[in-house]
Amino acid sequence: MLRLFDTAKGEVVPFETREPGRVSMYVCGPTVYGPPHLGHGRFSLVFDVLRRYLLWRGNDVVYVSNITDIEDKIIARAAEQGVDPAAFALEQEAVWWEVMDGIGVMRPTHDPHATAYVPEMVALIERLVASGAAYETSDGVYFRAEVVADYGLLARQSIDSLRAGARVEANEEKRSPIDFALWKKAKPGEPSWPSPWGDGRPGWHTECVVMSLDLLGEGFDLHGGGQDLSFPHHENERAQAVADGKRFSTHWVHNGFVEVEGEKMSKSLGNFTNLSDLVAQFDPRAYRLLVLRAHYRSPIEVNVASASDASAALARLDTFARAAARLPVALPDDKVLASFVAAMDDDLDTPAAMALLFDTVRRANTAIDDGRLDEAAGLAGAAQEIARAVGLQLHAEAGEIPDDIAALARARDEARAARDWARADAVRDEVQAAGYVVEDTPSGTEVRPA
Ligand SMILES: [Zn+2]
Repeated sequence: MLRLFDTAKGEVVPFETREPGRVSMYVCGPTVYGPPHLGHGRFSLVFDVLRRYLLWRGNDVVYVSNITDIEDKIIARAAEQGVDPAAFALEQEAVWWEVMDGIGVMRPTHDPHATAYVPEMVALIERLVASGAAYETSDGVYFRAEVVADYGLLARQSIDSLRAGARVEANEEKRSPIDFALWKKAKPGEPSWPSPWGDGRPGWHTECVVMSLDLLGEGFDLHGGGQDLSFPHHENERAQAVADGKRFSTHWVHNGFVEVEGEKMSKSLGNFTNLSDLVAQFDPRAYRLLVLRAHYRSPIEVNVASASDASAALARLDTFARAAARLPVALPDDKVLASFVAAMDDDLDTPAAMALLFDTVRRANTAIDDGRLDEAAGLAGAAQEIARAVGLQLHAEAGEIPDDIAALARARDEARAARDWARADAVRDEVQAAGYVVEDTPSGTEVRPA
């Protein structure tokens, strides 16, 4: 059974679902005010891997991830550029999907937009005001954190220590520094919606409560996001659900931070914190492999060396996939698959799963070299299943290799077979000069774009 670290419980627990074989998960999506950065890429990949693994294990998965299309940063950025905030958000959202598609993240089952849920958010805030869990001030409506007895559950801190640690704000109408805005009254020129407290817009913490409960229902299975969201965002989502008398998410899962190598790299590679830049400069699958090679709760450091290394490792997997395509048909080695499941079920131990994948590929290559083709086929099948389960697409087709280059590769094999090394080297040089990488594999020369 899958076990995951639950932030609310502070330990690894069995992942129990509301309905057997059917997983409901909600992952906080982006505020669309700029191009996705590496942190966005990481949470998207971590939860994509979890989703794919659950699917691979035979579950149905309903995956909801929102688009925050109204927020202070969107308004500010649109104003800087002198454009309409709604049009600006739409444009940024298109960039988001393009990059996510590029790194192979499956589209959510539902992608609710904050602006489409304003009446439902207003209704929730009205209920919270009516029950005394929220109060109006001159600039908005605030939630009284103290009405939730276990406020601080996700922060793993008591409400008193949170209150003591909160920064003192200029807003004197707030009854406690840990109270947070549910509704922001509009300033002139800002986008706004009508409400009982005048025109304004919802605070960020309200949309996910309303959208997750609407699309997944009470007591849905998992709420996830980057570690930076556990407090205050997820704490505040949960507080509203509790105060509204709703059963919220059963499990809370958060992924670690991304550390980007400093100044030196940003000079040589431009703004490397931008996910599109990483995708443009390396194999688009490289970031997934980097994310998989670290445990999801550990910080990862992204730098030129680790990204290049991941690209090279993927090229080796592709070479292997091409060799595997010529093996006899066989069932995947079930011992390997059992080890894979054991690793993944242990709080998604993807570093162990990746070590197993590369070890299985090495063993399969050795078996090919030794002519043990049935054994190689079983190992290859298991390696391909592992890759599929974590969303690493392998390219068994050589891809865009023009006929003349493919012909040169065959000519090199013929020269080598005839022990004409000078000719073989000359052909290799010609292929490399044309911009291709030449690799020797057990089944002959393989060529791929450099
Ligand atoms: Zn959220």
